[in-house]
Amino acid sequence: MTKTYDYDLFVIGAGSGGVRASRVAAAHGARVAIAEEYRVGGTCVIRGCVPKKLLVYGAHFAEDLQDAARFGWKVGKCDFDWPVLRDNVLGEVERLEGIYQDILDRHEVDTIPQRATLTGPHEIALADGTKVTAATILIATGAHPVVPKLPGAEHGITSNEVFHLERMPKRVVIAGGGYIANEFAGIFHEFSCHVTLVNRGEVILRHYDEQIRDRLLTISLMKGIEFKFNAPFEKIEKRKDGTLKIHVSGQDPLEADLLLWAVGRAPNTAGLGLEKVGVELGKNGAILVDEDNQSSVPSIYGIGDVTDRVQLTPVAIREGQAFADTVFGGKPTRVDYAHIPSAVFSHPPIAGVGMTEGEARDKLGSYKAYVSDFRPMKNVLAGRNERALYKIIVDQETDRVVGLHMIGPDAPEILQAAAIAVKAGLTKAQFDDTLALHPTMSEELVLMR
Ligand code: FAD
Repeated sequence: MTKTYDYDLFVIGAGSGGVRASRVAAAHGARVAIAEEYRVGGTCVIRGCVPKKLLVYGAHFAEDLQDAARFGWKVGKCDFDWPVLRDNVLGEVERLEGIYQDILDRHEVDTIPQRATLTGPHEIALADGTKVTAATILIATGAHPVVPKLPGAEHGITSNEVFHLERMPKRVVIAGGGYIANEFAGIFHEFSCHVTLVNRGEVILRHYDEQIRDRLLTISLMKGIEFKFNAPFEKIEKRKDGTLKIHVSGQDPLEADLLLWAVGRAPNTAGLGLEKVGVELGKNGAILVDEDNQSSVPSIYGIGDVTDRVQLTPVAIREGQAFADTVFGGKPTRVDYAHIPSAVFSHPPIAGVGMTEGEARDKLGSYKAYVSDFRPMKNVLAGRNERALYKIIVDQETDRVVGLHMIGPDAPEILQAAAIAVKAGLTKAQFDDTLALHPTMSEELVLMR
């Protein structure tokens, strides 16, 4: 590694991918600096997975408290205090931010709390005007929530602001049909808000198995969440009292106290100087990289959401690790993108890995779908009419389980373990050979015939 540069590695963005890449490269002996313009930890820790999941836990108490009576508990009048939950969640986020900073410090990574842009293939300009040089530059700047360009769009908020709400709104309109839209629909609903999810397309959760996402839609409707499909937004008006009048094509205007844009996330590349340096960008402004995360400029690499491959934290972390091991550890490593498990932390949650039934129909010669449609024991006693659905997709030629999809209590926790079997290429016969663990919901996975 050359000493002619200030650093061996300069990372822009201290999120999931950037922090992992920095600390692993430093552990391999590189001199590393990382620039962060907002807060160390990035989207996942500061305004994504972590605070979202804590709100999901908080929200679920609404159902648990309702169900408690059937289990013999006398629960008095319950009130929900949003500021208490909000402040506790924000406190936890701050604690985690400190842990991430500590990881960087312990690995002797220089943290630069400023925006950084590129001025050359080996040169970075910091917001205060300082220039820094590095042999290798890693762009790990993540993505931002897209706000559509239409009149009054600025009256809506995004997931960046949602964790800081001063008070719980009574009526919430959520724009979008993806996982963030559905997760917040569940959260706000459990907090007693009236929720309307407005989607430009005709389905929610496009990439999930059809039967599973239909089940979520049915349960959500049953709970009282409203859905508007094929409903593009036209304009948003803000009244003097702060309430919103939301105009949606082909519908009566919607009245709301809060509008949440959850219509997708675009890579953070604007104004970074990438084009000037010759880095090729693709659709949406994503950095185009090869299998080793290298861009069209050999000294510049990209990982995580900014490359718009799979926008998930564990993927960004894997890419950061693979980058550092390959470039600084003498251990060439590539990320295997097959069988990435994913979840929607809705109420109830969804989780899936591998091919959906639709994909199996298109891609496999012959397949078989095994379905278990059941009411979890806890829901039966609680009098909660909410059915779970588990689905196994099997390639009939090889008997391998190529997809596993589920909706029901704890689905993401169950799926993480089951994903190991799918990734390992186990057959349906091997699933069937495994004895059930009774009484559990997950025993359905080995009992489907
Ligand atoms: P990020 O974590 O976004 O980090 C990028 C960092 O770069 C940011 O801190 C940013 O401030 C900084 N930055 C940007 N530009 C500059 C610059 N020019 N100079 C200096 N710093 C800069 N994923 C999951 O796997 N599971 C989930 O449950 C999940 N839930 C989510 C919920 C929400 C509401 C959101 C928004 C996202 C969620 N995600 C989830 C996605 C996950 O957060 C991202 O995939 C992940 O954080 C990507 O990591 P990254 O390192 O690519 O970018």
